[in-house]
Amino acid sequence: MALEKYQKLLFDKIKKQISQWFDTDPNEMVEYEEVYRFLHSIKGTSGTVQLGGLLIVASKLLAQLESREDHPWIKNELREFLFELIRLSYDYEHFNETAVEKDEPCCGSVPLIQIIDDDVSMLILLKEALEEQGWMAITNTEPEKAVSQYYDLQPDCLVLDVDLPSKNGFQLLEDIQQHNHKQFIPKVITSLQNDRKTRMNAYEMGADDFIEKPIDIEEFIVRISRQLQRKQIFDQSVLIDELTQVYNRRFLFDLLERNIKEYERTGIPFSVSLLDLDYFKNINDRYGHLTGDKVLEVFASFLKENIRSTDIVFRYGGEEFVILFPRTTAEESKEVVKRILEEFSKVTFNEHGDSFTLSFSAGIYMVNNREEGSLEILKMADQALYEAKENGRACVKSANESAQPEHKILNVSVIDDDAIIRTLLVRVLENLDTSKVILNIESYENGEKFFGAGRLAEKGKHFLVLDGVMPVMDGIEVLTRVRESEHADRAHVLMLTGRKTEYDIARALKLGADDYVTKPFSITELQARIQRLIQRMF
Ligand code: GH3
Ligand code: MG
Ligand code: MG
Repeated sequence: MALEKYQKLLFDKIKKQISQWFDTDPNEMVEYEEVYRFLHSIKGTSGTVQLGGLLIVASKLLAQLESREDHPWIKNELREFLFELIRLSYDYEHFNETAVEKDEPCCGSVPLIQIIDDDVSMLILLKEALEEQGWMAITNTEPEKAVSQYYDLQPDCLVLDVDLPSKNGFQLLEDIQQHNHKQFIPKVITSLQNDRKTRMNAYEMGADDFIEKPIDIEEFIVRISRQLQRKQIFDQSVLIDELTQVYNRRFLFDLLERNIKEYERTGIPFSVSLLDLDYFKNINDRYGHLTGDKVLEVFASFLKENIRSTDIVFRYGGEEFVILFPRTTAEESKEVVKRILEEFSKVTFNEHGDSFTLSFSAGIYMVNNREEGSLEILKMADQALYEAKENGRACVKSANESAQPEHKILNVSVIDDDAIIRTLLVRVLENLDTSKVILNIESYENGEKFFGAGRLAEKGKHFLVLDGVMPVMDGIEVLTRVRESEHADRAHVLMLTGRKTEYDIARALKLGADDYVTKPFSITELQARIQRLIQRMF
């Protein structure tokens, strides 16, 4: 249709202007006149090319603009002012409709399902089906990457194809299974073979369900949903962490509440310490995840043996533990944790003909303020822990002593040649509710600019939102360079790919993308996804 051509011209014009404003020096001002002319011209064209929503928004903004008189704009402020328009342009261009959704607040409790299959079309299909349910799915074709994502993100359910071609695939199943013995994560096996022997094998390997290929998607969803319910019931009914045999996170929150009440009644402070093993990832990388598991078990029992009977140990998640010290001041608990650190650093592990020792860093927070809830208390301990890590690790810091709590930083880079998408994403990211971390957000219109800025060398973890197809250095090339760089370990890469480009998705996953989202994506969903990933990363 001829109209489409003119609509596209209009979008191009919007993009060009947005790029001119927001890809340049953020400290320059934008003249009132310029903004006026921009909106005026959109108002004029959009009606003609039948983009009614744009017409309405542009008119509304123009009316607001007039009350502002002649003042020049600060760029950030201008971007905020134009946001509805930018978002609408995106929706129109990609969906041909005005799905002007409200940004709903995201919650962290959406189940995460990990699918491992070397068949990319299957991955795409299953991922889409699961995400239609409002669940989140991550996918892997490569066994090695799958194992590290499994440990990093701790999914709520696993879907594994047992017919992975490489030997590694089977090694991976065993690895995960041995860990799985001690950590309840439902495992659904899929397979092209449906003979009795394969099924028996699968159940022997610990499968909670077996689904034959070709998969009936509707049935698949019902069966996954049942596994997720089992997981939820399990998590709610259990107080002990299976792997380490100390109390789990859920029980920690119960006990914290109890201690807060006790404190409110008596006024006697209590302390919380958050402990995190130093360079624990290296142990996994060097000796395998099973050795990592063993270290966690030893660490947990070491903690239990070295505290008073009134103190309690919890596994907070991954390689992080909490000790709750009832009726104890920060000074007293700090002494205890320092002593434990000193003793634990002497423990020698013998693995694979090699021996090593380990240290941990710890943050302490004493509760002596009636206003604080459990989350705030843990956040304070976490900030002290962060300080201990920054201080070179193997030390104990108390939040009650430090004057200014520091925050964790996550460097988020958006690399996309489309100015509308860039602007949208940056604004979406700026509005994420991430209490644990401060986001340091930058956007780049291509890979060259990203590398040219030396972005990856910036301290802390990195999160990249990377467009797969760009004219200057395409996404795949950027990904390859990121993975080859010395900072590969610290970067989580989310690729934006075309819907019909199975080949690109396959390549992206092979080259080490951690996740992908197909274009056009819904902004709200992408926002929720990024928020959840960040929550799981920290
Ligand atoms: P840092 O000194 O900064 O804490 O370095 P680190 O390597 O310990 O930090 P990071 O938090 O990046 O890595 C923690 C790793 O712990 C990542 C994850 O794969 C691993 N992990 C989490 N849970 C488990 C588990 O149950 N078993 C094993 N083996 N590894 C786990
Ligand atoms: Mg950690
Ligand atoms: Mg650690």
